[in-house]
Amino acid sequence: EPILELRNVSAHYGNIQALKGISLKAFPGEVVTIIGGNGAGKSTTLMTICNVIKASGGDVLYEGRSILNLASAKLAPMGLCQVPEGRRIFPRLTVEENLEMGAFFRKDKAGISRDMEHIFELFPVLRERRRQPGGTLSGGEQQMLAIGRALMGRPKLLLLDEPSLGLAPLIVQRIFRIVEDINKQQGTSIMLVEQNANVALRMASRGYVLETGKVVMEGEAAALLDNP
Ligand code: ADP
Ligand code: ADP
Repeated sequence: EPILELRNVSAHYGNIQALKGISLKAFPGEVVTIIGGNGAGKSTTLMTICNVIKASGGDVLYEGRSILNLASAKLAPMGLCQVPEGRRIFPRLTVEENLEMGAFFRKDKAGISRDMEHIFELFPVLRERRRQPGGTLSGGEQQMLAIGRALMGRPKLLLLDEPSLGLAPLIVQRIFRIVEDINKQQGTSIMLVEQNANVALRMASRGYVLETGKVVMEGEAAALLDNP
């Protein structure tokens, strides 16, 4: 049974229909990617899942139940955590404080500091910078912090919106390798939105190709990679 399922989801910005009946699934433990060019509807899809944008039709199911009418703040405690596009970290808060924000709904303080230690093991540069304001980090480090903060919520499904955006290929490679480790070691399901199809399909097992608000292709990542 899928951990997440979109059934014929549509979404509008005023009169513009950004999503025209999107159906897709993510299964427990898998890395699934949503690829497509600029304006295809990738970000809108993620925002609709998290109820940042209200779907105008269809349904979104998480662990078998509809989450369409749940406030986005309810989702992280259920294990559905998002890393929005553009590395939205808190620039004035330190790295540690940013990470703590990701665990705001958790009560177990010992568990929180253990998880923070684990994130420092995954991203050693964040340990070095733990007392620095998030805004003083480089772009790649801020992306690591944004992912780390989402991980502090102990996601079952992690939604990543264009983590490669504006970063050097080498940094992207490092970040993706760590995301892969998180998936393999913790079994965290990953839904990865990417404009860079090559990078995304090398990491994912399955993919969906979006074009003007519709799924135009879907299948095994290897098959999509061969399809120019
Ligand atoms: P992608 O993430 O694939 O680049 P988006 O989901 O951002 O695509 O956009 C899908 C469509 O919705 C595009 O046509 C875009 O112009 C439109 N759109 C996105 N955000 C807004 C907005 N805030 N107001 C109006 N139209 C928008
Ligand atoms: P502003 O909207 O003027 O940037 P905010 O206090 O809302 O001021 O945000 C301060 C910083 O925190 C901004 O850099 C913003 O991108 C980031 N931010 C705001 N909301 C969130 C959020 N829900 N998750 C992560 N970062 C956020």
